[in-house]
Amino acid sequence: MRTLIWFRRDLRIIDNSALFNAAKHSSDGVVALFVITPLQWKQHDDADCKVSFWIENLRSLSASLARLNIPLLIKTCDTFGEAPAVVLKTAKKHRCSALSFNREYEVNELDRDSEMVRLCRANDIVVQQFHDRVIVPPKEIETKQGKFYSVFTPYRKVWNTKAIEYSQPVGKPSKQPDVGVKPSPIPKSVAGFDFTNDFRDCYPAGEAEAAKRLKHFASKISDYDQARDIPSLEGTSELSAYLAAGVISPRQCMAAALKAKGGEIDGGNQGATIWISELTWRDFYAHVMVGFPRVSKHKPFKLKTESIPWRDSESDLMAWKTGQTGYPIVDAGMRQLNQTGWMHNRLRMVTAMFLTKNLLIDWRLGEKYFMENLIDGDLAANNGGWQWSASTGTDAVPYFRIFNPFSQSKRFDPDGEFIKQMCPELESVPAKSLHDPKKLSNAIEELGIEYPDFVVEYSAGRQRALDAFKTNA
Ligand SMILES: Cc1cc2nc3c(=O)[nH]c(=O)nc-3n(C[C@H](O)[C@H](O)[C@H](O)COP(=O)(O)OP(=O)(O)OC[C@H]3O[C@@H](n4cnc5c(N)ncnc54)[C@H](O)[C@@H]3O)c2cc1C
Repeated sequence: MRTLIWFRRDLRIIDNSALFNAAKHSSDGVVALFVITPLQWKQHDDADCKVSFWIENLRSLSASLARLNIPLLIKTCDTFGEAPAVVLKTAKKHRCSALSFNREYEVNELDRDSEMVRLCRANDIVVQQFHDRVIVPPKEIETKQGKFYSVFTPYRKVWNTKAIEYSQPVGKPSKQPDVGVKPSPIPKSVAGFDFTNDFRDCYPAGEAEAAKRLKHFASKISDYDQARDIPSLEGTSELSAYLAAGVISPRQCMAAALKAKGGEIDGGNQGATIWISELTWRDFYAHVMVGFPRVSKHKPFKLKTESIPWRDSESDLMAWKTGQTGYPIVDAGMRQLNQTGWMHNRLRMVTAMFLTKNLLIDWRLGEKYFMENLIDGDLAANNGGWQWSASTGTDAVPYFRIFNPFSQSKRFDPDGEFIKQMCPELESVPAKSLHDPKKLSNAIEELGIEYPDFVVEYSAGRQRALDAFKTNA
């Protein structure tokens, strides 16, 4: 038997269930395939830098696979709708009687895979599908009534009882007999995507880089509980781009965290415990996406919030996108996104809440902008984060708890170190003035600094949001 392994967002050879099993059970070698779908990626708002990151990782994946005698073929078609036919044609051409892939959980991906299974059945090709994207498969956790959880804390309780069982890495696949097929060249470009500003230097491709980051982070994981909220520190793992593209598995991350905790999920190293709970949030949002597919179709989880009278203000939206709102911590966060393709988690919450509450602009516009710019853009996590911030989602923040950007910066960037790094025009403003609207306005005037006025006055914006949410949330 020869197997075709279809890579998607699992661009690694170590601890890849579909690849490991294909290599284990194929007597006549393995052929690998990746399908580029530019139009679909555009429709999904995938960022230029993220697509570039995928392509760079294909280069590294192809080299690793070649060492196992597995050639990586790269094909292109416009959309997911066309992909199954391309996969089938490739399987037939290379005499593969089995197809192996890791499951994806979004609606379009599930439709694509159902069609793939149908085509394979009709053509006598055995399909092997694996849960590999998250630690505990989405349907393995259910309430006593057999339903999906929509609240994180009880979900996590059950997750904790299952996580160790599902955290065993599958290891490295074995070397295969030569199938005599030449790997495809790696494309230099993808139609419709601009790779000129792809932050390649900040995110080197490949499993070795991901492993290096994990090792480095593991050496300071005990500081995570203190450092993770401070944007001026490198207090988090910065593994999200690698996890989103599947260059590292969540099981590998879990293994590193468990090691720091002596193998126990409860107790022990507090930093590692909190980091595991972030990995649990990642699983939770995939669970929510499978249980409530409307969230991946631009619908709020809380349907009542459909009637919130979102404001239509192109100029306010633009001020937010470009980091020109006059609120230093918000502007610093948005500029970090625009300049690096990544944003610190605390700032994702602050900027998302600012857009949806203080500016009362539809969360879907923010979700889209993040997706269009994040190197780690992931539908489940991004949607979950946005709906949490906008109070429209599962387990969302109560609508009346609105972050005050000045209190947030005072707490998490007291010396203004991060703000000044991202907003250099504020360099000469004393730190305490950065956290107080009146002092900030005075300092800007006195120092003659060019920095925008507040896009909305804080109390007025807050009250407007409270009024809009009161009857609709
Ligand atoms: C509005 C908003 C949008 C977001 N969009 C995305 C997104 O598109 N892609 C994405 O991967 N994360 C997203 N997040 C979650 C989080 O901000 C990032 O995962 C984190 O900042 C990545 O940095 P890190 O790798 O250093 O994380 P660490 O703190 O080191 O966490 C480790 C890993 O856990 C996962 N994780 C951490 N926090 C969360 C969370 N709250 N929800 C889900 N998974 C989490 C990520 O895979 C992350 O790499 C979003 C959060 C918010 C509030």
